[in-house]
Amino acid sequence: MTAYEAVIGLEVHAELQTASKMFCGCAVVDSTSAAPNTVVCPVCLGMPGVLPVINQRAVELGLRVGLALNCTIPPFNQFARKSYFYPDLPKGYQISQYDYPLAIQGWLEIDLPDGSTKRVRIRRVHLEEDTGKLTHVDGSSLVDLNRAGVPLLEIVSEADIRSAEEAEAYARKLRAILRYLGVNSGDMSKGVLRMEPNISVRPVGSSEFRTRTEIKNLNSIRSLARACAYEIERQIALWESGGQVQQATLGWDEVRQVTVVQRVKESADDYRYFPEPDLPVLEISAEWVEEGRAALPELPDAKRDRFMRDYGLSRYDASVLVAEQAVADYFEAAVKAGGDPKQVANYITGEVFRQMNAEGRDREDIGAIKLTPAALASLVTLVQQGTINHSVARQLLETLYQQGGDPRALVEAQGLAQVSDEAVLGEVVARVLDANPAEVARYLAGEEKLLKFLIGQVMREMRGKADAQVVTRLLTEQLQGRRGD
Ligand code: ADP
Ligand code: MG
Ligand code: ZN
Repeated sequence: MTAYEAVIGLEVHAELQTASKMFCGCAVVDSTSAAPNTVVCPVCLGMPGVLPVINQRAVELGLRVGLALNCTIPPFNQFARKSYFYPDLPKGYQISQYDYPLAIQGWLEIDLPDGSTKRVRIRRVHLEEDTGKLTHVDGSSLVDLNRAGVPLLEIVSEADIRSAEEAEAYARKLRAILRYLGVNSGDMSKGVLRMEPNISVRPVGSSEFRTRTEIKNLNSIRSLARACAYEIERQIALWESGGQVQQATLGWDEVRQVTVVQRVKESADDYRYFPEPDLPVLEISAEWVEEGRAALPELPDAKRDRFMRDYGLSRYDASVLVAEQAVADYFEAAVKAGGDPKQVANYITGEVFRQMNAEGRDREDIGAIKLTPAALASLVTLVQQGTINHSVARQLLETLYQQGGDPRALVEAQGLAQVSDEAVLGEVVARVLDANPAEVARYLAGEEKLLKFLIGQVMREMRGKADAQVVTRLLTEQLQGRRGD
């Protein structure tokens, strides 16, 4: 039977975090913070005779993204009218870019689950304006134009993605970069970042491009991955059964976890693109490009490489830490406060994330937790110095996470310091052996796994505070001593 592979290209729309809209002075507002149709003006309402003006800040933010995605910035770009016949854009067209986009021919490096990396080529990055919002109720449609004219960046990849996992990796990396650049919050559930995969499949080894479908309405990266996986399987089944894939725009049904046909796709001809006569061709000088390049922050991949180099972290740990800038900052603050980098990384990606998950808190909010970076550093140091053991550290971390405070002070106040005194532990060990004669006999008869049980008993007596290494040694010694009994 033929093996198939997926061919996927992503179109991503990102609203730009500017103060005002793309072509007018209206503020950019959150959909929840303004009543419908209150943040509008003649320009974004599409009144006859008005003239658009390009928002310079939007161009700067777009430029940042183009540069971060290793694109070439052509010396000029141009806006174009794209015919659009829905009531959420009253002009009857959307101002976008077509023949001359802001940025072209870049690439994004993605990290694959097996630890390898791959470059996905970026075809283009262009500026456009967002549409308003339509709400359909009881047979009528409500129009809110607050979002009409909000600056939107479209980022289009080449069809270099070969699986749902790669699509997910691409989405995660791109989202992280947009957040690092401060151009977009990455909040897909609010619709400010929208990712639309174009999907086809073909026999492995072939270089053909078969008919594709495009999926819209994905409100999270997880949904993106699931929708891709579903659609890939659906298309393979179609080809295998002698059927054909129909070119279409699909939606993702979150409840049933299936793709559903929304409409048969328009072609570029239907959009009747032509150069926007009301806007000048936009020249981007070499100086402007270099200024933009110089102002780029350290991006996730560079930060990951620095974390590996400077702190000796594994590639995996470093990748997890840099996925959210807030987490990377928290990590570096804890290291600055004196925490051992590897231990700090372990605690963050283990216990701290576990606590945050349990609370339903996003990783990007790590800066707001009660366990401060300095407290984590001091906790890690207490373990390394042997003042407390790992199991006490875990309990203490939970307390610090819930209440805040200083680890050293808590260890003193609650008497949590580890006990390694051999005399004290030796007595407890003897008591535990006396109390468990059956288990001792079985151990001596060769059931070595009972050592774990006996260690557990001693730990319980010591309320978790015993030095596990000393306990293990004393237990083994005393058990040997009882062989002759
Ligand atoms: P349009 O502008 O009509 O949506 P484009 O040709 O610009 O179409 O491509 C949009 C996206 O679809 C790009 O990411 C591109 O790589 C991807 N794409 C194009 N052809 C295919 C195909 N046969 N299978 C999967 N993806 C494709
Ligand atoms: Mg498209
Ligand atoms: Zn306006």
